[in-house]
Amino acid sequence: MHVPETIICVDCGGVCHLLSYPRPDEPWESGDIIAYRCSDCLDRWDIVMTDDDPDDDRPWQPETGPA
Ligand SMILES: [Zn+2]
Repeated sequence: MHVPETIICVDCGGVCHLLSYPRPDEPWESGDIIAYRCSDCLDRWDIVMTDDDPDDDRPWQPETGPA
């Protein structure tokens, strides 16, 4: 799944860089926690990965019918 290399710090608006990297044989999965460090205020942010990607441009699809 897609993991951004940087995110915007919600405290200072600076750039937070990815601290965690997936192992080659163990890619990110939903529920994994990845850590970022802000280069401006040095705050650490732990983000729980989810399947919901707000940056995904695909339109939302309702779940219909049995799986
Ligand atoms: Zn910051």
